[in-house]
Amino acid sequence: MAEETKEPVGFSDLGLSETVLQALKAKGFEVPSPIQEKSIPILLEGKYDVIGQAQTGTGKTAAFGLPIIDVIEKEGKHVKAIILTPTRELAIQVSDELNSLKGKKRLNILPIYGGQPIDRQIMSLRKGIDIVVGTPGRVQDHIQRKTLKIDQLDFFVLDEADEMLNMGFLEDIEAILKVTNTDKRMLFFSATMPKPILKLAQSYMREGHQEIAVKAELTTRLTDQ
Ligand code: AMP
Repeated sequence: MAEETKEPVGFSDLGLSETVLQALKAKGFEVPSPIQEKSIPILLEGKYDVIGQAQTGTGKTAAFGLPIIDVIEKEGKHVKAIILTPTRELAIQVSDELNSLKGKKRLNILPIYGGQPIDRQIMSLRKGIDIVVGTPGRVQDHIQRKTLKIDQLDFFVLDEADEMLNMGFLEDIEAILKVTNTDKRMLFFSATMPKPILKLAQSYMREGHQEIAVKAELTTRLTDQ
C-alpha cells in the first residue's frame, strides 16, 4: 500500500489575516511549528480554550501571540489580553517577541514586573495598553491600586504554568482570574501538567477545553535551524 504523504502546512492554512502573514514573512518564519499548527486555528476560532504542553523553544510564544495579535482590535481604553509569566526575564522576552510579530498592527504591548518603578508602569498603563505581559505579584499590585483593569479581556494566557506553581504563584493567579470577565479565550502553557494546573483549567476554562501536546523531540526542530 502506498504511504500517505501529508501536505506541509503553511501559516496561510491556519486562518491568520494578511497583516499577520506579512509580519511573519518579514520576521522570517516560514513554516509553523507543531504547537503553532495545532493551537492557532483553535484560538482563532474562539470556541475552545487550550492547554498546551510545550517547552521553551517550541515556538509557544507565537502560538498564542499570533492569534492574540490577529483577533484583538485596538480600542485604546481597555486591556484586551494579559499574559502571565513566572519571571521578569520571560515577561520582557514575550513582550519583545510580540512586538516583533505585530507587524503593521498598531498595538501597545507593555511588560509589567516587580523591580521596575511602579510609577513608570502606571504612566504607561494610563496611555492605553492593549496587551499586558506581567508577573503575578506586580499584576496583582496594579489591580489593587486600580491602575490595571482586566474585566474586558479577549485573551488570558498563563505561560510556564508549572514554573508559576513552583514559585508559589497559584493563589495570585486565582485572585487575578477572579477579576477577569468569563467570556475570554484562555490558554495555559506548561512543560509538565501538574494536578493543580489541570484543576485550575477545570475551574476557570470554558467547557470542552482542548489539550495539546508536542513531543519533546520535535522541540529541537526550531532551535536547530
Ligand atoms: P519560543 O518557544 O516561543 O521561546 O520560541 C523559540 C524561538 O523560535 C524564538 O526565537 C522564536 O522567534 C522562534 N520561532 C518561533 N516560531 C518559529 C517558526 N515558526 N519558525 C522559525 N522560528 C520560530
